[in-house]
Amino acid sequence: MLKAVFPGSFDPPTLGHFNIVERVSAIFDEVIVVVAENRQKSYLFNTEERLGLMSEMVAPRNNVRCVVWDSLIVDFMRQEGIQVLIRGVRGVDDFSYEFELSMMNKTLHPAIETFFISTDPRYLILRSSSIKELASFGGDISPMVPPIVFDALKKKFPENKLR
Ligand code: ADP
Repeated sequence: MLKAVFPGSFDPPTLGHFNIVERVSAIFDEVIVVVAENRQKSYLFNTEERLGLMSEMVAPRNNVRCVVWDSLIVDFMRQEGIQVLIRGVRGVDDFSYEFELSMMNKTLHPAIETFFISTDPRYLILRSSSIKELASFGGDISPMVPPIVFDALKKKFPENKLR
């Protein structure tokens, strides 16, 4: 069984994240989406909301499951006996950050291999932080997120008539 983890904040999950899950789950036997719970970070969507949205998005894919983890991803991987860590890359800026992160993880747990996967060009500009900002100003985010996330964002910013 070839397994991989795909960790992230997913605050909220976007079509860019979903595309990575779809592509990776077509290659690996099992993919575990790890929703990070980091007490140092402030999220728009709480842990249960992020887990719920992601779980609903990936529900049609039988070999994908979602979990919450509140510590180092390498510890989760060690516990589950998983070697492959997936990270999505939208460009050189992402890559330089992700590369350093992969070096850090390799230092912590040398058996871990980070697999970088390039974004689909359709999702190149999708970023959870920009989507939240756009939604807060009532911008059209419908092509960027699935309908359940669109509805959840609409509830977070009820004063804006999100299209
Ligand atoms: P984190 O806070 O861990 O960076 P994110 O939820 O922002 O969590 O992202 C999780 C992973 O998904 C990261 O590897 C990120 O680069 C990747 N990602 C985010 N948006 C996209 C996108 N539009 N296309 C491809 N990968 C993406």
